[in-house]
Order: sequence, then C-alpha cells, then structure tokens
Amino acid sequence: METVEKLTETLRSHGMKITPQRLMIFKILEDNISHPSAEDIYKKVKKTYPTVSFTTIYKTLETLKELGEVSELIIDEDRKHYDPNTTVHHHVICSACKKIVDVFEDFSSLVKLPDFLKKDYTVLGFQISFYGICRECN
Ligand SMILES: [Zn+2]
Ligand SMILES: [Zn+2]
Repeated sequence: METVEKLTETLRSHGMKITPQRLMIFKILEDNISHPSAEDIYKKVKKTYPTVSFTTIYKTLETLKELGEVSELIIDEDRKHYDPNTTVHHHVICSACKKIVDVFEDFSSLVKLPDFLKKDYTVLGFQISFYGICRECN
C-alpha cells in the first residue's frame, strides 16, 4: 500500500470522497501486519465514528483491492482478511486463535508445476498457506 498521503491523492483522482472515516481505515491499514478482517476494521472505526456502517468499510476495502493497494487473503474459512503488503509472500494461520503471520521465504525452487499448468497457463505466481497451532495456543 502507498502512504496514506499518496493513497488519498490516488483515490481522489478516482473520484472517491475522502471522509474522516475512510482516512481512518487507511491509517489502520498502513504498516499493519496483523491482516485485519473487514469486521476488525469496522470495530475500530466504530469506536471513533459510531455511525459508520459496515458497508462503508467493506466498499472502501473492495476499492482498495481493485486498485491493487491491498491484497485479499482467503486463508480463514470464516472471513476475508486484508493485507496492505502486496509484495509476494506467504502466510501461516493458527487454527486455534486465527492469528495470521507473514512468511517471507522463496519457495519457488521447491514447487514443481504439473505438466498441464506449464502447458495451459503462464503461471504468474503462487501463495502458500500454512495451517497450524501457534506457540501461545499450544
Ligand atoms: Zn494461536
Ligand atoms: Zn501478509
């Protein structure tokens, strides 16, 4: 994700109104390594802006996703999570507390592509999701 200042400019140029609520969403996301869900962000914004709707939060996140500013993680079966770090990396989720942690490791030499993938696709990348129990939950 870009810095909040740059992001604000980008979104303005896409015709989005920068409300204080939206600005707070950007600030929550900036440098956030906890992979929050839309619900997590909603709870935080609601503390400062009690009238904010979940739809506003969700729509803003979807716009950020479309603009490539955040990635959506489908690692938790219960809900989507968002990651402002859009560089290639992998994740591990604790099956007990649902905490999601980044895994920065290049696995490309270990992945053997099946023949049909090599034949039918130009593979642009892959993501590995590890599942396990973290130290605190163990
Ligand atoms: Zn845990
Ligand atoms: Zn991540």
